[in-house]
Amino acid sequence: MIIKPRIKGFVCITAHPSGCMAHVEDQIDHAKKYLISHAKKPKRVLVIGASTGYGLSSRISAAFSAQAETLGVYFERPPSEERSASAGFYNSMAFTLKSKEHGLLCEDVNGDAFSDKCKEEVVAKAKAMGGEFDLVVYSLASPRRTDPSDQKNYRACLKPIGSIYKNKTLDTDKKEVKDVVIEPASKEEIFNTKKVMGGEDWEMWTELLINENVLAHGCKNMAYSYIGPGVTQPIYRNGTIGKAKEHLEETGLQLDEKMKIKLNGRAFVSVNKAVVTQASSAIPVVPLYLSMLIKIMRERGTHEGCIEQTTRLFSSFLYTDSPKVSIDLKNRIRLDDWEMDSAIQEKIISLWPKVNSGNLNQMTDFEEYQLEFLKLFGFSHPRVDYEKDVNPIKPY
Ligand code: NAD
Repeated sequence: MIIKPRIKGFVCITAHPSGCMAHVEDQIDHAKKYLISHAKKPKRVLVIGASTGYGLSSRISAAFSAQAETLGVYFERPPSEERSASAGFYNSMAFTLKSKEHGLLCEDVNGDAFSDKCKEEVVAKAKAMGGEFDLVVYSLASPRRTDPSDQKNYRACLKPIGSIYKNKTLDTDKKEVKDVVIEPASKEEIFNTKKVMGGEDWEMWTELLINENVLAHGCKNMAYSYIGPGVTQPIYRNGTIGKAKEHLEETGLQLDEKMKIKLNGRAFVSVNKAVVTQASSAIPVVPLYLSMLIKIMRERGTHEGCIEQTTRLFSSFLYTDSPKVSIDLKNRIRLDDWEMDSAIQEKIISLWPKVNSGNLNQMTDFEEYQLEFLKLFGFSHPRVDYEKDVNPIKPY
């Protein structure tokens, strides 16, 4: 099969296995440059949301910077004779192959992480792996959740709260900067978004893992959040998703107390920087902000993608010689420090009103944004021959 990108809005419905492999290999090469020799480096790591974006990079950092065994949980579409798998499926296949080549144990669970069934399967696999996790990374990004306690379905939305939001956004298909107007969320929409992307499910996972004795003494338990700049504030941090992230961060405080008491462990939220992922490309305004951010951070030599962020998380925050992990006043690791640097943000504020469809390529790095987007699905990788026939079911 010859696989070409088929983009529909902010998703690509095809994925290329060779490109996904190349992308995973690049991340592995990066992680191997940041080997962790710390005595307390993780030996066994659970990553929930492990197949793409920040979760995949966290898993690669754990395995290839720290030589940890990993258990990855994700929800991905397998391939068929007629259709390629989702990118996360191929990424995970590639990760497994590379881990085996390096003698690193890895296990996977492909299922709905919000469900009891998936959680039970993870616990069973964790026990079969023969040891406890000393790091848990919760990196889910999902538009919906079925609550296992009552089987009710909840849908997250990306809306402002209290008033209409109007701002510039980028139509990435048409390469057009235009205005977007979004009506404020209802109370129900705020509640539903919190149910999906807030801390409830992370808490359920943590309770279960503690009760099943699969967390090691001193275990670190971490979830990812985002704050972001003024230009996205009404739609992100002050919007429905921001309310969910506030809930996640409050949950982190409670879980930190629990982890300390039960395991002499810790729970943190890490506030990461904005990067191009399947989740972030769906948020209005963010692709334009990211195109600008990539250009400015590259010029200053501080540009990072997921793998650069997670290697820095491991080597400069989680596994250092300092007895304490560096956190802000709200118990959060601030991996967004370089993004939120005042010089970067002042530049964004000054350029934002001026950017339009005509000057997009001069004022932003939209080309790199597009390349990064295609790479998420295994396309546009320089090492891959996209005219070559691939077997979508057994690509490696
Ligand atoms: P992503 O879309 O790349 O990855 C989401 C992961 O969740 C995938 O592995 C997917 O398979 C998994 N998943 C989704 N629904 C699932 C389900 N029901 N069961 C099991 N697995 C499921 O997303 P991302 O951008 O890497 O986001 C991960 C976390 O990082 C989120 O909490 C997000 O808010 C946070 N974050 C993202 C950014 C950014 O710019 N992308 C910035 C800061 C923080």
